[in-house]
Order: sequence, then C-alpha cells, then structure tokens
Amino acid sequence: MTEIPQERRVVTAIPGPKSVELQARRLATVAAGVGSTLPVFTARAGGGIIEDVDGNRLIDLGSGIAVTSVGASAEAVVRRASAQLADFTHTCFMVTPYEGYVEVCEQLAELTPGDHAKKSALFNSGAEAVENAVKIARIHTKRTAVVVFDHGYHGRTNLTMALTAKNMPYKQGFGPFAPEVYRVPVAYGYRWPTGAENAGAEASAQAIDQINKQIGAENVAAIIIEPVLGEGGFIEPAKGFLPAIAQFAKDNGIVFVADEIQSGFCRTGQWFACEDEGIVPDLITTAKGIAGGLPLSAVTGRAEIMDSAHSGGLGGTYGGNPVACAGALGAIETMRELDLNGKAKRIEEVMKGRLAEMQSKLGNGDIIGDIRGRGAMIAIELVKSGTKDPDPQAAADLAKACHAEGVLVLTCGTYGNVLRFLPPLVIGEDLLNEALDVIEQAFGRI
Ligand SMILES: *Cc1c(COP(=O)(O)O)cnc(C)c1O
Repeated sequence: MTEIPQERRVVTAIPGPKSVELQARRLATVAAGVGSTLPVFTARAGGGIIEDVDGNRLIDLGSGIAVTSVGASAEAVVRRASAQLADFTHTCFMVTPYEGYVEVCEQLAELTPGDHAKKSALFNSGAEAVENAVKIARIHTKRTAVVVFDHGYHGRTNLTMALTAKNMPYKQGFGPFAPEVYRVPVAYGYRWPTGAENAGAEASAQAIDQINKQIGAENVAAIIIEPVLGEGGFIEPAKGFLPAIAQFAKDNGIVFVADEIQSGFCRTGQWFACEDEGIVPDLITTAKGIAGGLPLSAVTGRAEIMDSAHSGGLGGTYGGNPVACAGALGAIETMRELDLNGKAKRIEEVMKGRLAEMQSKLGNGDIIGDIRGRGAMIAIELVKSGTKDPDPQAAADLAKACHAEGVLVLTCGTYGNVLRFLPPLVIGEDLLNEALDVIEQAFGRI
C-alpha cells in the first residue's frame, strides 16, 4: 500500500501542466456528457489526501462522492481485494457461487436496522440497487405505483431518472421517463413556508394526503426516501416526517424503502441514518461507502419481501463481484476497527463548530443561510444577503477558490447553492481543520 503524506501541498497551478495535458486528451476522446468537478488527474489517494500527477496534494472533502469513507487505499480493502484478485476475478454468482457474496449478505443482515429475518441481493451501482428494490416491491405487493419526494436523487438509469427530482443535469433531454412514479413534498425545514418547527407534521400530512387523493394508497408498491437527502442538498427531513411516512406505509401495506446509498455505512455517525429516528425500513438500498471504492451495491430487507421474486428474476453478470465483495468485507472491518461512527460524529462536532463561527463572523444569515447535516455529511446553504434567495454563484465561486488552494469540495442542491463536505472518515483532525481554514479564507476571496 502506498503511504501518502497527510499534508496539503500546492506546487503548481491547479490543475497543473500534466493535468492540463491529460485533460486535452480526455476532451478529444471522452464523451462530453461525462463531466468532472475538478479536472485534476489523480496519481494516488489515501487517508484525507488526493495526490495529482503534478505532485499537488489536495485535501479531500468529497470522498469520490461519499464512497471512500475508509480512505481510497485502506489497508484491509487493498489486502482483501488483492488476495481475491489473485484467487479468481469472476465466476458470476448466478453460475457458480462463492463465499464472499454470502459473507457480505451476512454482514448486511447484521448491520442494517431491525432484528427480523433479512436477505440481500448484490448489484454493481446504486441506481441498479434502487431499480431492484422497485422490482422486489412490485412483485411483492402486486402493485405498480412508486412514491418519491421533492429534492430526491436515486440515479441516472431510465427508472431512477424518473425517481430523481432535479431536471438539470440529470433528466434534461433524456426522456420519456418510466411511468407510475409520483412525487410528493418533503420536510425541508429551512425552506418550509411556516417554519422548520412545523415542517415535519405539515409536510407528512401533505404527502400522505396527496398519496391518498392522487394515487390511492392501495396502488402504491413502494415509498422511496433518502433519510438524509444527498444530491438534493443534504436535507435532513424535519423531525417526525420519516416516522409518519414509515407508519403510513406500514398501515397501508406499502414497502418502505430507505435509500441509504449516500447516507449509509457510518457516513452520518450511525451505520444507517434512519437509525436516528428509530426507523426500521422494509428494504434498504446501499452502495457508495460499502466497499471502499470498489463497485458494489445491495438491496437488503425483510426475508419475506426479498424472497417474493422468483429464482432468476434478480441478478446480473457482475452483481456481487468477488473482488468488490472482498473490498466490502475490508471496508466493514475497517469501520468496526477504527470506530468510524465515532469518527464521523467527531467530524460533525469540528465542522459545525467552525462553520458556525464563520457564519456569525460573516453576519448571521448573510451568506451562510443554513448549516446542516449529520456526521461527516455536512453542508452549508448559501443565500443572497438578508434573504433566503439561493446563491449558486457563491457556491461555485467558493468551490473554485478552495480548489485553487488545494481543498476539494463539492456542490449540490436543487438550486445549486449548497457546498457539501464529505471527508473520508479517516481524515486527520489537523487536515480537517486546515481545510476549514481554507474554506474560511475563501469567503474573503469571493
Ligand atoms: C449516488 C446515489 C444513487 C445512485 O448511485 P450510482 O452508484 O451512482 O448509480 C442513488 N441514490 C442515492 C441516494 C445516491 O446518493
């Protein structure tokens, strides 16, 4: 394993000359639809650092979009995946099975909320997991409608585009979309018209009323929600919202699906974010953080629901690839050994403390309208002075200023005005504080 010095180092312009050269080759041959936040080409990465081909070392506050929670070259992931690579790369679990797949399903049964009998099926991407959750819920309930929420994000395949709320860039021009998908309000506290304290009760009542009036609860196969909304702006549904929706699902025989693809696996300081309100989903979709950077996803849930699909109805050539499974077992081992839930909570404490100081220095509500999130899934929503009008330009300018100083940050949100922070959970506290220094300075530069 390469040990990368855990220090920020900026030795060229960012991107540097070698990255610029590679970017020219990329533009000539990689489809324009595949974008990059920062066209800095990676040489190696680990801990809280991404080292580029010009020798710059960036502090990583993105984790490849909440994937490399254990770092991008975690010892246990590298060791287990390398050993598996040498043994065999693939047989296809649907042809001849192997133990790693079973072990990952055992771990998922143990780690996900609820003590009922659980089963899992493994896939490659988050979108694929969500698609399969819908297949399973439909065959189980013999119903077709799927309910999703404002600001939700579930992927880029045809069905998951339909489930995703935001048009640009995810949907524009790519329709027609899959039918039988219905969108209802979510309790977005900061922007709820009657205030955050009313959002949970009012939004859940509205959502349930719309389901009853517009779809008919008896037609709904699944309700799918992110317990902390990711791409939509790190929105934590206001207290009471998730339990009310989960109860409604239960009362009406609807499969309640928690999409924990971004929020799961220690990211929010719990194995799964829905644990914070004691929610036990019927099905849970996971991906991103599950395998330390290797492509793996899962649907896990009540055995009787998971077993509704006939043999051969679920699967895929690569689903639960043995190397990815080995990576997952290494990542889970690392999460347990290093207490990454505890680390995520400490990251929240440090980040929220520093961000609150910045907010009061800048003038309360002047540009940082809201600080939110849980664990190492923290965001600031940027607004025009003295209003709640979204300021996407400020988010873009701040991100650019951070990038120039060697701190990788990402933006998100329906209005593009949210700066989000997803550091690897293994980041050192000094490095995290240095990144926060750079963010603070960036406010002075925009
Ligand atoms: C990223 C994400 C997905 C899609 O995962 P892919 O691996 O990109 O297909 C689905 N749901 C949520 C909540 C996500 O954050």
